[in-house]
Amino acid sequence: MNTFSVGELHAFLTEQGVQHVTRDVSLAAISRWKIGGTADLLVEPGSTAEVATVMQAVRRFDVPVFVMGDGSNMLFDSRGFRGVILRIGRHLAELRIEGTRVSCGGGHWVPDLAMRLARRGLGGLEHIVGIPGTIGGLVLMNGGSQRKGVGEHVVEVTCVEGDGTIRTYGKDELDFTYRHSALQGRGAVITYVELELAPADPAQVRRAMIEIMASRRRKFPKNLPNCGSTFLSNPAMYEVVGPPGRAIEEAGFKGKAIGGAQVSPLHANFIVNQGNAMSDEVLALIALIRQTVHDRTGYLMDCEARFVTSEGEERPAHEFTDAKRFDTSLLTQVT
Ligand SMILES: Cc1cc2nc3c(=O)[nH]c(=O)nc-3n(C[C@H](O)[C@H](O)[C@H](O)COP(=O)(O)OP(=O)(O)OC[C@H]3O[C@@H](n4cnc5c(N)ncnc54)[C@H](O)[C@@H]3O)c2cc1C
Repeated sequence: MNTFSVGELHAFLTEQGVQHVTRDVSLAAISRWKIGGTADLLVEPGSTAEVATVMQAVRRFDVPVFVMGDGSNMLFDSRGFRGVILRIGRHLAELRIEGTRVSCGGGHWVPDLAMRLARRGLGGLEHIVGIPGTIGGLVLMNGGSQRKGVGEHVVEVTCVEGDGTIRTYGKDELDFTYRHSALQGRGAVITYVELELAPADPAQVRRAMIEIMASRRRKFPKNLPNCGSTFLSNPAMYEVVGPPGRAIEEAGFKGKAIGGAQVSPLHANFIVNQGNAMSDEVLALIALIRQTVHDRTGYLMDCEARFVTSEGEERPAHEFTDAKRFDTSLLTQVT
């Protein structure tokens, strides 16, 4: 997208009544890994109709668009993004609770949702309390903890498709499996999520959440920017080798770094940004870890974290790595 069409698209969106459109936004500033160059346009819509207007506009102007929530599972390209970042966040975060049924805007912040469910005595989603993302992102990833996924409680999801049409998908169409949903890779934007919970004792729900938070605080790095677990747990590998963190630690990577990207000394499945990491350094570290663990165990680990290129291609981060391009001499030990 050239500079002229950025201006033209900006003006068009404003004319259509779309609010919260910003030019030249730092992706590092709006993502949890704090990595990424400048994006041409950031749009933060406030309704499903506004999302539909944006999707129709980017199609008309033939501009790449990338949908994000809180950027807690995203590695952005240090070269930036030539197109529109559609961020579903606080302007699309309405919450309605009627009995055990919960309707939630795609941008609602997950820890806040969990606390509100606890207060209303609704159980089943205690495990999401410490996940720093939006409910839209969580549903897309079928995220969760303690080997559970949010998909178990989803009744239906309202989406805006790539062509701007609005559709509702029932749970049986969403194919929720471990950290997977049928919506991944389709470019559909989740604007509302309908959940069904179970009645529970508020004090018990709160206690369960406090325990989960305490355990996460002990295990996970919190001072340096990161994206949570980098690699997905693979059930076959788990049986023989254990979780990715153990395999990476046993391969000697704890504390190792390439440039500003370091394998956390606290938990080896977390890659932390020591302050100035570039996306290529994270990808290089991912490539080396993946190759080394494969050489040692015979298992190839796939990434949970997703990478988005400056042209708008987005897939799990390991799909952008080529171990042959990177060499172990780049590794340094940081303590
Ligand atoms: C410290 C830390 C701990 C974490 N712990 C966990 C954990 O325990 N369990 C877990 O599952 N994850 C965990 N994560 C990863 C991450 O928080 C989850 O995957 C989260 O659900 C992503 O939500 P998000 O809004 O940040 O999505 P983003 O990271 O912004 O996006 C992730 C994907 O979802 C898509 N997406 C986002 N919003 C929408 C939408 N409204 N419509 C359509 N597509 C959308 C994006 O295009 C992208 O493909 C952790 C991350 C961090 C930083």
